[in-house]
Amino acid sequence: NPVLDIQKIRADFPLLEREMNGKPIVFLDSAASSQKPRQVIEAMDEYYRQQHANVHRGVYQLSQEATDAFERARELVRAFINAPTDKEIIFTRGTTEGINLVASSFGRQFLREGDEVIVSHLEHHSNIVPWQLICEQQGASLRVIPVTESGEFDMAAFRELLSDRTKIVAVNHVSNALGTVNPVEEIIREAHARDIPVLLDGAQAIPHMKVDVQELDVDFYAFSGHKMLGPTGIGILYGKSKWLEAMPPYHGGGEMIHTVSFEKTTYAELPHKFEAGTPDIAGAVGLGAAVEYMMEIGPDVIGQHEHSLLEYATAQLLEIEGLKIYGTADNKAGVISFLVEDIHPYDLGTLLDKQGIAVRTGHHCAQPLMDRYGIPGTVRASFAVYNNREDVDKLVAGVKRAVNMLR
Ligand code: PMP
Repeated sequence: NPVLDIQKIRADFPLLEREMNGKPIVFLDSAASSQKPRQVIEAMDEYYRQQHANVHRGVYQLSQEATDAFERARELVRAFINAPTDKEIIFTRGTTEGINLVASSFGRQFLREGDEVIVSHLEHHSNIVPWQLICEQQGASLRVIPVTESGEFDMAAFRELLSDRTKIVAVNHVSNALGTVNPVEEIIREAHARDIPVLLDGAQAIPHMKVDVQELDVDFYAFSGHKMLGPTGIGILYGKSKWLEAMPPYHGGGEMIHTVSFEKTTYAELPHKFEAGTPDIAGAVGLGAAVEYMMEIGPDVIGQHEHSLLEYATAQLLEIEGLKIYGTADNKAGVISFLVEDIHPYDLGTLLDKQGIAVRTGHHCAQPLMDRYGIPGTVRASFAVYNNREDVDKLVAGVKRAVNMLR
């Protein structure tokens, strides 16, 4: 079992040297956005210093170099998720844009009056609202997989929701609010048995585990660069060619056309058909560097490291009187969501910040789930490859101190 050299890894992340409120920072909000290793920062810096020009256009050498850097990043991502071809790797601004792209383009092509889209009660708003928008436009409706008290899909209810009216199923791979790893293999198997495609929101899975889109046999997989050690403003939509070919473009503009006339425009081949306008080239280069960084450590090794932190933190937090963890105890990744009896999450978060500990408080863009539990929100501590046991010890001591002050 290879183990992480955590000291060496932490030294790659310049931001971890900072102090907050006079204390060395304990960063436990990577589920919102991770920090960046110098390898990513330097790759982007180098790109802007040495290689920048617009892509896919110039006959001159510099433009060719920029195009090569951009397309190399696409190839790195393809290999990272084991997609069959880089035509199926579309650069987006992030998970949100990827889901909006599918909802809009797939929806316009395949959703009609009376059709249904299935999501779950555990979704981030970005995997709810785009579907509501397209359903409203097409006269279709949203159906919701209920979750159990422990924050898991009610699979019997899911099976009952599936019908001839179902046109697509869209759920998250890992929940950002609870950390639950959802039974996506089973979801995909059941949906495919009825020829229904499945979109997975992979925003919270991709930083923590090996994702193989062919093994999953998933139809669409969306994720963000900034949650997996890469820059903001760039993300990926993987889609099977058979669907992407059948869908109309999402945005119109340059790059996505074959020929344009006022009578009729024809579209470029995949993936360019879905990449209108000048892309975030430096962002793609940074994402490529993040992929290389993760590949070098190994997604499985990262997952094991984070899992041991999760177990270590869970055991200690549960010793605090009145503390309740939401969601399953096992089969989760990266996230601990909790509340302490009679204490508002915002007050707890504020007192943790005073001690240099950054956690998330609130509904985590999952209001329907918070309503399901009848709570305003939770305190969420989330882990990344660069966290260590000392971070957990400080979190536990910090919560204890805050609880003593607030009680
Ligand atoms: N889905 C999930 C599960 C998420 O955690 C997030 C980010 N919080 C998103 C979607 C949206 O990602 P982005 O803001 O990067 O588009």
